[in-house]
Amino acid sequence: MAIDSDIIIIGGGLNGSLMAIVAAKFGLSSIVLDAKENDTSRENRFDGRSYALALSSIRLLKNIDVFDDIRDNSQPILDIKILDGKLVQGPSQFSLHFDNNDIHDGPMGQMVEDRFIRNALFAKIYESDQIDYKFASEVMEHKREKGCISVKLRNGNKLHTRLVIGADGKNSELARRAGIKKTGWKYNQTALVCAIEHEIEHNGLAWQYFLPNGPLAVLPMKGKHSSVVWTEQNIYAKAVNSYDKTKYTSILEARLGNFLGKFKIIGDRHSYPLELKIADQFVDERLALVGDAAHSIHPIAGQGLNAGFKDIAVLAQVIEDAFLRGEDFGSLGVLKRYEEWRRFDSVQLAYSTDLFNKLFSNENEALRLARNVGMKILDSIPGVKQKIIKEATGLTGELPRLMH
Ligand SMILES: Cc1cc2nc3c(=O)[nH]c(=O)nc-3n(C[C@H](O)[C@H](O)[C@H](O)COP(=O)(O)OP(=O)(O)OC[C@H]3O[C@@H](n4cnc5c(N)ncnc54)[C@H](O)[C@@H]3O)c2cc1C
Repeated sequence: MAIDSDIIIIGGGLNGSLMAIVAAKFGLSSIVLDAKENDTSRENRFDGRSYALALSSIRLLKNIDVFDDIRDNSQPILDIKILDGKLVQGPSQFSLHFDNNDIHDGPMGQMVEDRFIRNALFAKIYESDQIDYKFASEVMEHKREKGCISVKLRNGNKLHTRLVIGADGKNSELARRAGIKKTGWKYNQTALVCAIEHEIEHNGLAWQYFLPNGPLAVLPMKGKHSSVVWTEQNIYAKAVNSYDKTKYTSILEARLGNFLGKFKIIGDRHSYPLELKIADQFVDERLALVGDAAHSIHPIAGQGLNAGFKDIAVLAQVIEDAFLRGEDFGSLGVLKRYEEWRRFDSVQLAYSTDLFNKLFSNENEALRLARNVGMKILDSIPGVKQKIIKEATGLTGELPRLMH
């Protein structure tokens, strides 16, 4: 059977787009199929979404020559401050402070708006003759055939490839159709996301304020702007989300206080019901899952996209090495190497963010006391703090070549 491209990627979000660019870097052709009707990134409008990119992700973007297009629009995260508290009573006297100078690899991460990452990836995709990105291409079926795998689109077109990569998000239909089960649970929490413009400089400081209903993160963006990820219980989040901008702002104000001075909301507001979902298998014969399709986790540590980027760097290395050795890179034996490298780490990350959320999102006084004592002790032991920062930068464990 004639092959249409070496790889077919289902889902052209940030992870699917990056996967195609990385594959092209070592000479593999890919077709990216996305269900969306068109390229909304071309509107180049700030829509309120940003990500904290870990150092490991920055290294990957540098190694594929994408970071130069992002650098001027990114804000280094220089310090992180973690506080525990209650509404009305305000923060407790104990806090945990992570300083950029505690590690020697540069800023702990960079905050970048969704549109700037997307635009930079699309620019690379459009200049590559190895990548064919198709919008309005919802995949409805896949079928293993002799030596290849085919996918069928809603319009009836059928395409053949050696390997299908599922980057179709947390509700991956590809995983469901392949019979891959997922383990996890719904949180009774929704993340309310918006960006604010404020009076006082943030000086690159990121805040994580733990309130009983869930964490409130205030992350520095370019200029006097910050991204707010505000987690609330579902029922309350639904009500808050339905309010107009003025009422929404006044409720946020009660949580933020005035450390950034007067502020106003800019861009759109978003809300994401939170759920933990991990695929029991990341691979099958001629099929691999990456990003949220493989693992969707609580955003408490801002690590979801970073974990997806690591999947891609690892999968790319496994495919490249197999290709150079003359192995069939779509075979289950080869793909298992990717699963062995990434699944355990992903499960660990998912469960530690889950534990962290459970430990902090409650009003239990005994736990509150333990948290505060724990934060005081941790704050005074530099070696332990360095280890935690290193973990957050994504530079621990066995790193794939693209993250060196
Ligand atoms: C509130 C919040 C804050 C976050 N903050 C951070 C952060 O600071 N740092 C961080 O690292 N991560 C963060 N994350 C996680 C991050 O947003 C996700 O991990 C990431 O966006 C997942 O990208 P993806 O490409 O895997 O999936 P998606 O973005 O869901 O993309 C999936 C794509 O697949 C397409 N698709 C679906 N089905 C089909 C089909 N059948 N055929 C064709 N196409 C299909 C869709 O159109 C879509 O384009 C956050 C998440 C939340 C909820």
